[in-house]
Amino acid sequence: MENNLDQIHQNGLAEIEATENSNDIQDLAVRYLGRKGILTQYLRNISKLPAEQRPAAGKKANEIKTILDKAFKRAAEKFASAGSAKDDGIDVSLPGRAAPAGYLHPITQINNQMCDIFSSLGFDIAEGPEVESDYYNFEALNFPKDHPARDMQDTFFVSEDVVLRTHTSPLQIRIMEKHPPPVRIVCPGKVYRCDSDLTHTPMFHQVEGLLVDENISFGDLKGVLTTFVHQMFDEQTSLRFRPSFFPFTEPSAEVDILCVMCRGKGCRVCSHTGWIEILGSGMVHPALYENVGYDADRYTGFAFGMGVERIAMLKYGIDDIRKFFDNDMRFLEQF
Ligand SMILES: [Zn+2]
Repeated sequence: MENNLDQIHQNGLAEIEATENSNDIQDLAVRYLGRKGILTQYLRNISKLPAEQRPAAGKKANEIKTILDKAFKRAAEKFASAGSAKDDGIDVSLPGRAAPAGYLHPITQINNQMCDIFSSLGFDIAEGPEVESDYYNFEALNFPKDHPARDMQDTFFVSEDVVLRTHTSPLQIRIMEKHPPPVRIVCPGKVYRCDSDLTHTPMFHQVEGLLVDENISFGDLKGVLTTFVHQMFDEQTSLRFRPSFFPFTEPSAEVDILCVMCRGKGCRVCSHTGWIEILGSGMVHPALYENVGYDADRYTGFAFGMGVERIAMLKYGIDDIRKFFDNDMRFLEQF
């Protein structure tokens, strides 16, 4: 058994010498010193030796264990510092780990699509402040104080005369104040209303349009919105205009499209009517022209506004608006 121990010693050193990389060293160390390793087994079997041989054999085995352990460590260090081409600690044939690429949120994608359609029709993009004065958000848009129409929009007040804008319509006034007609703009952006359920979030996105020039009629409004709906959905998606009321347009109309889910047959999404409301619109109220100094006898125009989330929900068949803001990658990655 003593010879056996010398053999283990010599073989171990020879094999360490012959290794070519750090993986070999690790494997070899396990083969000798691991739980079922050669030297470990030997140490375990010492108890079977005659009693008088045990102390010497144990001492020698432990010395050899220390020697091999040091030799393994030296060899491992050698390979680590050499970083030689032979060291396959790095396997260059493994496929790389790709960094996940970022991409646009579905709401941003739909917002961009909407703006692209209106840009192609000659509209410029305009942006403005989200914290807005009462004047621009309400007063100048023909919502006098105490007007009941203010209740249509559950407003977040910053102070008595400052609000988080409830629509992107303040931009209409800001742009018209600065630019004489013709004006042709769309205003995308965040708006805020104190409302939260399956189809409402306190913050959502709107795209609003305004066109003012000479000889602009309701027919132009219908033409622009029909082109928009046909490009956003498809040519089979028909529209209908329903009379409505907004303080800043007269006449006003809400626009429904043929239900994109059931094609007019009636389903849960359209409450079995076959139609879905998507936006509000109308001819600009002459009171607004007075507020910005336009000649109301000479110029006419139209305005419209719609929610980006609503369009996205219809386009993708999503029934809960809150999914857009949960930031669940399993949901967002589908777009
Ligand atoms: Zn339907």
